[in-house]
Amino acid sequence: MTLDLIPVARKRAYPPRVSAFTQPFWEGLSQGKWQSTCCQACGKFTFPPKKICPHCWSEDMVWKDLSARGTLYSWTRIHAAPKVFADESPYAVCVVDLDIGLRIATRMVEREGVEFQPGIPMELVVLQYEDGPLFASRPA
Ligand SMILES: [Zn+2]
Repeated sequence: MTLDLIPVARKRAYPPRVSAFTQPFWEGLSQGKWQSTCCQACGKFTFPPKKICPHCWSEDMVWKDLSARGTLYSWTRIHAAPKVFADESPYAVCVVDLDIGLRIATRMVEREGVEFQPGIPMELVVLQYEDGPLFASRPA
């Protein structure tokens, strides 16, 4: 499954730091690929990607494609944004419980006519900024 790419005509206000280890994540995300690390010893996924399993401390980690579906846990709309995001406000952010058992926080892409209630189905998308991608979520 490939994530929908949504063009955004601006640069990211606070671009992520990309390391040699996280570079595959960011390169994949720019093409709609949603992946993270999975522990070969205990089978648990981690996000963000990690070199060492936070559950059993194994270093036997591999990259795997993840489900990009989940449900809304909580959300809010930011009106008084930190200075770096001020010219993007108001904007919504949310916490999504992915089907694979990970809970992640993302920017929320609002969809007209959808009332945000905890438990509604959500999907991840890619916001394709001029200088690179960021992941976000929207009602499915
Ligand atoms: Zn593990």
